[in-house]
Amino acid sequence: MDFTQYQQKAQTTALYPNVGNNLYYPVLGLGGETGEVLNKVKKVMRDNDGKVTDELREILKSELGDVLWYVAALASELKLDLDEVARANIEKLFSRKERGVIKGSGDER
Ligand SMILES: [Mg+2]
Repeated sequence: MDFTQYQQKAQTTALYPNVGNNLYYPVLGLGGETGEVLNKVKKVMRDNDGKVTDELREILKSELGDVLWYVAALASELKLDLDEVARANIEKLFSRKERGVIKGSGDER
């Protein structure tokens, strides 16, 4: 499955209000699911001495999937192809790497 196929399948499970004209629901969901990832990793540090067990890995896999779903939903709301988002991102990163500016800050490197 590529990103476009994922995005198309994910979109068929989007049941929030005004799908196709609602930036807010997916962006709020993305923040919420990102918070769930952060919280699970926090508990790895607090309760498990920083060790990621197989069980925790599966839990985090599921939460990362939730993050991906909201990324796809947000891309759909923005009329962006998720495959194109991924391609543009990796091209940007490889360009920075080749130019020796992958470290540092600033969006326009
Ligand atoms: Mg979740």
